Amino acid sequence: QASAPGNAKGKAKVAGGTDYSADEDFPWSAGLKAKMKTVFGINSFRLCQQGVCNANMDGRDIVCVMPTGGGKSLTYQLPALLNPGCTLVVSPLIALITDQIMHLREAGVEAVKLTGATPKPEAREINNRLLAMAHNRRAPQEKEIKLCYVTPEKIAKSKSFVAMLQKLVDGGQLARIVIDEAHCVSQLGHDFRPDYQKLHVLRQNFPRVPIMALSATCPPKVLEDLLRTLGMKPVVDGTNAKPNATVYFSAPLYRKNLHYTILPKPSSTAAVIAAMKDYILEKHPNQSGIVYCFTKKDAERVADGLLEQSGGKIKTGVYHAERKDADKEMLHRQWRKGMIQVVCATIAFGLGIDKGDVRFVLHHSLSKSMDGYYQESGRAGRDGKDSDCVLYYRPADFSHLSAMMSGEREGATKLHAMLHFAQDLVECRKVGFAKYFSHSSQVSMSAWTTDDSNALAPCGHCDNCTRAADSFERRDVAFEAWQILKIADAVQHTGGQLTLTMLADLARGNGGGSYGVGGGGRRGKGKSREKETLDLDLTVVCGGKVELKKDELESLLVELLVHRYLVEKYHQTAYTTVVYLMTGPLALRLTRIPRDRVKTDTNTPKIECSFLKAIKKTKAKKAATGLSKGDKEAGKRKRKTPSSDEEGD
Ligand code: ADP
Ligand code: MG
Repeated sequence: QASAPGNAKGKAKVAGGTDYSADEDFPWSAGLKAKMKTVFGINSFRLCQQGVCNANMDGRDIVCVMPTGGGKSLTYQLPALLNPGCTLVVSPLIALITDQIMHLREAGVEAVKLTGATPKPEAREINNRLLAMAHNRRAPQEKEIKLCYVTPEKIAKSKSFVAMLQKLVDGGQLARIVIDEAHCVSQLGHDFRPDYQKLHVLRQNFPRVPIMALSATCPPKVLEDLLRTLGMKPVVDGTNAKPNATVYFSAPLYRKNLHYTILPKPSSTAAVIAAMKDYILEKHPNQSGIVYCFTKKDAERVADGLLEQSGGKIKTGVYHAERKDADKEMLHRQWRKGMIQVVCATIAFGLGIDKGDVRFVLHHSLSKSMDGYYQESGRAGRDGKDSDCVLYYRPADFSHLSAMMSGEREGATKLHAMLHFAQDLVECRKVGFAKYFSHSSQVSMSAWTTDDSNALAPCGHCDNCTRAADSFERRDVAFEAWQILKIADAVQHTGGQLTLTMLADLARGNGGGSYGVGGGGRRGKGKSREKETLDLDLTVVCGGKVELKKDELESLLVELLVHRYLVEKYHQTAYTTVVYLMTGPLALRLTRIPRDRVKTDTNTPKIECSFLKAIKKTKAKKAATGLSKGDKEAGKRKRKTPSSDEEGD
């Protein structure tokens, strides 16, 4: 029973490659299962765990994408126990590392951590133990270190640590390098960390040590970036893994216990909070949840507002980067115990949250990217039970987000994908995610579901799948788009620039077509605050004002942005960034068509928008709380039978 690398037997050997997903065919299969049971108390593999463990035992480079809570840790911890030597794990946060070590130690596994915060004497001791392993002179009573966790800066900044690793490698005692949360390598991901980029030294210095990259969100561009940065070969599928390639595994990212809904966001702060309060009290009283906010201030406001508006019924806490570590820990603890029901947080509240029964994740604003939204909303329902993910969306939020993201690489592209998803009233959310995560991918739709043919089948339980056909309308708005672009053009010709809200107001004829030019430092330096007011005769420019409601018009503007009829122009002032909308590369396609022919010309590009129909007062509350099916814990809340005026609609 030799277990040389690549020596897979039986049916696991498929044409040209190895099928690592095959069961029981490998020399180590029985050993893996036994250890899994005795050490971790786990009886059977989940998702693609088995394949990953097999490829791991076979010494391959691996990329493994599994949803949060899927069980990625086991795929390196278990093989680490069977392989000789030590497995190095790079993880972004000390809190995450501490948590892992605690669990491992409880299971009797010898695991250590080396971070910037490790006290010197302890670090020295660990170092000595590793050196003893490297030189094969470990004292018999001393346990072999099976897993060594480090933060990336240890690799990036500590030459002596890298030198020590070299000794481990020379002594044949570095079994594998694992990079957890590997999307942090890429600026295109949602959680870029500069120290992760320096991890390229690992492959450079230790070309023979297999690398494993783990993530829950790795769209194709991030994957490419990650492979390049870490010096890994292109990927092949784990069911037919050719030699000399990185073996790729993915588990279905789609989680059917999560029910996605996007709701129109009221324009006043108090009204948004009121909607959230109603939602929580009605649908999830006394259940744990998270409200993600874009800024620290928002998080504070929402936390105060929910507590106050609910008359103290909803206990809230605030989490963001500037809170003290001790406060963060306390909050986490109180939340886990249920003393705090809802954590209002920025995305700083993320990695390392380990609470299974989060029944709802609300988004007070859009996320910065689809990756971010998937991760953040995915903190709901880790225990597999039904949970709700609700995003409050209004197009006007675009300006603020876009400004905050203006410095980020591909920030606009990421935000557009998010906007596209949020604006969509038709396509199933599962399908929307699937398309996003597999766009132009080598890796196919299997990243999203186990079975390719299923990836594009609607989920049947998201807002768009359950939306009544008569609750919205899809309209041809090519003419309105034409008007908007004409207005934007005219304004640009006078040297003016307009934000989304300003353009929307102007187009609807508010202020009779006046708008300011200059100001904000555009013109002469000395009098940068002075504004000159110009008038635009909408009748002359585009045949009159645009006949759309405010929300509709703002939606259309976002649609035009996403499709490059309009583009962002960032203007930096001393205090802030302002985002103006300018005509984009595709605008001419529309504006070159004469006004009287826009509606009839066959060259007019198709521009359609979905608009929600105004809802009756009686239904407004129902809409704001997004009550839908899909919550099987209904016993805990009152469910009224629909009154007659709500029926038949
Ligand atoms: P991830 O890193 O993918 O987010 P973890 O590795 O932290 O997830 O695992 C999440 C939880 O699932 C852990 O509590 C772990 O013990 C548990 N788990 C992992 N694999 C299995 C399995 N095959 N069966 C049951 N529980 C598992
Ligand atoms: Mg993990």
